[in-house]
Amino acid sequence: MTPAFTVKGWCPGALRPMASGDGLVVRVRPTNGRLTAAQAAGLAQAAARHGNGLIDLSARGNVQLRGVTEGTHAALIDDLRALGLIDPDILSETRRNILVTPFADGETDALAATLAVALADVPPLPGKFGFVIDTGPAPILTATAGDIRLERGHDGGLILRPDGLPHGIPVTTETAAAEAIALARWFTETGGITDGRGRMAAHIARGHRPALPRTATPAPAQTPPGPGLVPQGALVAFEFGQMTATTLSGLAALGNLRITPWRMVLIEGLQTLPTLPGLILSQDDPLRRVEACTGAPGCLQAHAEIRPLARRLAAQVPPGRTLHLSGCAKGCAHPGPADLTLVATPSGFDLIQGGTAQDAPRARALDATGIDLKGLF
Ligand code: SF4
Repeated sequence: MTPAFTVKGWCPGALRPMASGDGLVVRVRPTNGRLTAAQAAGLAQAAARHGNGLIDLSARGNVQLRGVTEGTHAALIDDLRALGLIDPDILSETRRNILVTPFADGETDALAATLAVALADVPPLPGKFGFVIDTGPAPILTATAGDIRLERGHDGGLILRPDGLPHGIPVTTETAAAEAIALARWFTETGGITDGRGRMAAHIARGHRPALPRTATPAPAQTPPGPGLVPQGALVAFEFGQMTATTLSGLAALGNLRITPWRMVLIEGLQTLPTLPGLILSQDDPLRRVEACTGAPGCLQAHAEIRPLARRLAAQVPPGRTLHLSGCAKGCAHPGPADLTLVATPSGFDLIQGGTAQDAPRARALDATGIDLKGLF
């Protein structure tokens, strides 16, 4: 069946921006998810000067500047390059698809740096194929998309695990990068890529297995924290993972930042919660129960405005439950199942219970103004 949305199979970058309803989306991949205070301040300034001042956080720990134009893109890239936030070329930018735990220690940073260098030798991989370095105290990124994962075992040792298998191969800091590249090669050589696309878990699900001379299982995964204080600093969230350039500028004044894949920012070392406007500081905030994509007019594929409806319905979502609102069946904001999902279609909103944006609805073509979710959770 032809999907009712466009599957691009590649992700926007800074050098290869993506057209959207409000201009170009320029995605910046801070190395290891880190922004120094100076980089964050410069990024905020660049977003306001060359874009519309809106900044999205992605589910892969990237920062997206919105509202950039063909006329401002080159000057933006110059500013970002001066901040050390631009790769030498599109190939390097695409290859550097490494997600690092926000709770990284020195060993994790070193592993990420070694892997980034080793990726120069990797065969061409699908645009969305990614490496996850989840070597904080315990795995915390298991719910975050990734294909080759480096995690900690029960004894604190390192394990390289293909996504889709419960176990991996024990490695050391010296062998981890080479083994990761070998696993990526195995994926390509055993037919993991079709028409330029492919994910490790799907390849494994088709029955392919890498030869692992020894195996080990990672330590139990932890649930990512909500906004609040953690040993590494202060975690702050934003409505629908979007902030303004003014907010980023305010955060930059507080210290170095780590961009998390949970659409939150960690302010390194801060031991009190900041009081800037535009921040969500508690997991109890009803907006933490709602996932909502850009919707119209910011996304060209959207069939309706999404975020005003999300704001209205947030108060109806009980604690511990999730509501997902999507401008089309692609479901960008929340690829997995949610307790309730509302998907915009040309004829109204479809309602899905306990599924994803692409599952069969229990009600169709609902009028946005009349939607009431009481009693449905
Ligand atoms: S899910 Fe939302 S953001 Fe993604 S393509 Fe559809 S309308 Fe656009």
